[in-house]
Amino acid sequence: MDKKVQINRKRLIQRLDELAQIGALDGGGVSRLTFSDADKAGRDLTVSWMKALELTVHIDQVGNLIAVRPGEEDLPPVMLGSHVDTVTVAGRFDGSYGVLCALEVVQVLNENNIATRRPIAVVAFTNEEGVRYTPGMLGSMAYVGELSVSDARAIQGFDGSNFGEEMDRIGYAGSMEPGAIKPHAFVEIHIEQGPVLDQADLPVGVVHTITGITWLEVTITGTANHAGTTPINLRKDAGLAAAKLIEFLRDIATSIGGQQRATCGMIAFEPNAINVIPSKAVLTVDLRNSDGQALIAAEQRLQARAKELETSDGVTITIRDLEHVLPMKFDPLIVDAIGQSTKELNLPAHRMVSGAGHDAQLLAKMCPTAMIFVRSRDGISHNPAELSSPEDLEKGANVLLQTALNLANQD
Ligand SMILES: [Zn+2]
Repeated sequence: MDKKVQINRKRLIQRLDELAQIGALDGGGVSRLTFSDADKAGRDLTVSWMKALELTVHIDQVGNLIAVRPGEEDLPPVMLGSHVDTVTVAGRFDGSYGVLCALEVVQVLNENNIATRRPIAVVAFTNEEGVRYTPGMLGSMAYVGELSVSDARAIQGFDGSNFGEEMDRIGYAGSMEPGAIKPHAFVEIHIEQGPVLDQADLPVGVVHTITGITWLEVTITGTANHAGTTPINLRKDAGLAAAKLIEFLRDIATSIGGQQRATCGMIAFEPNAINVIPSKAVLTVDLRNSDGQALIAAEQRLQARAKELETSDGVTITIRDLEHVLPMKFDPLIVDAIGQSTKELNLPAHRMVSGAGHDAQLLAKMCPTAMIFVRSRDGISHNPAELSSPEDLEKGANVLLQTALNLANQD
């Protein structure tokens, strides 16, 4: 077998450095919120790189960037990419790494005069992070037809801005209909944003499933009363019931086991005073599991516990659904293709679940899809301290390159 082509680590790192200078924050980190001036500058740089690689750049009506390298045949492309928007105080790898790896794949193919049967498309999806505009993963959602352009354009941001107006302002409202280019397959490479690979001392992972998520808001109503004069047995303490429910979340996670997660991340008491028994507690629950049945079971157990607490603690509890996202199992053929590339590069092909959401989970509804993860030091992300080593970044990019080559030459 002839020697495999390799990505250029130095050039990949240089591009990551260059993009990280746009929206750079004093004291480290970057901030490129969707359709901000920094996002525009980041997009401009990304598009300039796409054009320098002689790609045909399309912009769709929600601002997704799709750059196509022709194939030998006019077939649906293999799509590679991620996003270049960031959270408010971000690291330099989340999202950007996936787009820049895709560009690096194209550049290596160009330099080596390697033609592929299918075109290769590099994509940067709009508003993955969802900090300025909700929902997150907006661009990929529109791409697969789950959000209309008019609904997207009407979205009001947390800062009072309007999605459509801001997209027009920075000049990234394109003419292409979202999803007009339907891929043969989509592969997203991303930093893990969790500690699993770092703990296991593995450079890369093959992601076969994205976890399902249930978000609930629990409102517990009791009676406010004096903290000194009200005997313990006569209290309807919403705060205590909240504490019992939070502790029960850990019981749910440990008893179901596996990939089950259960978290209370927000709580508010009323009247919230040092000497008053809380009359009300509002808390949020985040349940996650890669197994949809187990996720439903977790929610049912929480509801049953809430019923028990109504009786034992004399409170009333209402549970409101905020969001339900089913687990997304990626296409086994694409997962295997990534696993095969990993083995060909003499890397361990560790199969894993993503505990975070990604554009790939939307694309999976449109075409066969899977993801490659690269180790994050200490599992830190959404933080200027986000770090993946140049060696790991290179390994991941080479897995993407081999996978793209294999898929782009498929029938
Ligand atoms: Zn991301």
